[in-house]
Amino acid sequence: MSRYFTPTLAALEPYTPGEQRKMPDLVKLNANENPYPPSPAVADAVAGVVSGLRLYCDLTEADLCNAIARQVGLPADHILCGNGSDENLLLAIRAFCDGQTPLAFADITYSFYPVLCQLLGVPAHILPVREDFTLDLTAYYGLGETIVIANPNAPTSLLAPVAEIEEVIRRNPDHIVIVDEAYVDFAGEGASCLPLVPKYDNLIVVRTFSKSRSMAGARLGFCAAQPALIADMNRIKFSYSPYNISSLNQAAGTAAMQDDAYFRDTVAKICRTRQETTDALRRRGFTVLDSATNFLFARPAAKPAKEIFEALRERGVLIRYFSAPRIDSWLRITIGTPEQMERFLQELNHILR
Ligand code: PMP
Repeated sequence: MSRYFTPTLAALEPYTPGEQRKMPDLVKLNANENPYPPSPAVADAVAGVVSGLRLYCDLTEADLCNAIARQVGLPADHILCGNGSDENLLLAIRAFCDGQTPLAFADITYSFYPVLCQLLGVPAHILPVREDFTLDLTAYYGLGETIVIANPNAPTSLLAPVAEIEEVIRRNPDHIVIVDEAYVDFAGEGASCLPLVPKYDNLIVVRTFSKSRSMAGARLGFCAAQPALIADMNRIKFSYSPYNISSLNQAAGTAAMQDDAYFRDTVAKICRTRQETTDALRRRGFTVLDSATNFLFARPAAKPAKEIFEALRERGVLIRYFSAPRIDSWLRITIGTPEQMERFLQELNHILR
């Protein structure tokens, strides 16, 4: 820290992401990244805009918003793009929370929500998940607060039915409900709240290109909501980062969105590997929750979770361990390629022997 370090800065507890270690033969299953490359169309699209980089990028992100709008079946004025979901979450919380309007979220969920609350001076209202890690969404009725729900949730991998989320939206008519659907493309048909957007003026759905579109390194996400909410969030965006999506990223995202066949194929492969890995872990005595995501939340029986995490790390396989209460006997394992999961299971066999 510098000699200019302030108490305000000292009070922040920054987000701790999964380790970004680099070594030969590393199997990296700790950040819920996609093991497959982005659509081949992305490279061509990016190359095509390089000569135009001397100009500022399109402020309206028209091509990208249109491509997203077509894909999700909403008009383009219902879409706002951000530098990853993380920026969209920041925009929404900055726009719709303050000292008087807290942000409500589950005790076990995406750990960036409390970080944003702290950064933005927003009180956090933490609601416990049930013993089996499912969300008790009746506790979210009539809260009088802004609400964020990760669905499917992380790190638990569990999906709440759309009907239950809709009831939360309906029963908080004067407050915003943000549904963070980072992993919803792995949850099968009918899992998304996007079809509810035209019906509710208090719903914001947050989506990302980081997972199902294999573009975590690009930093690209979008929100879908009614135009009045998009305009509100744009007031924040245009107050601090109007050019938040570079021309390179706009071109990459447009191409990725348009390649539906590649996207479906990638998601299907990951879902197949997810089932195989779930079965394999259960055969080894793990409790594995039924995942609606590209990762598994699993509790080992034979050895403590932390010991397994550390031993795998020694052997060049990175998974995620959380020391937080209630989840410190669990492991989060990203679904990689079949070959990566085979290696993970082999190393696990050594450790459990
Ligand atoms: N929401 C959830 C629930 C996540 O797990 C993550 C990423 N780990 C994000 C949002 C952030 O995604 P992005 O890369 O789009 O910022």
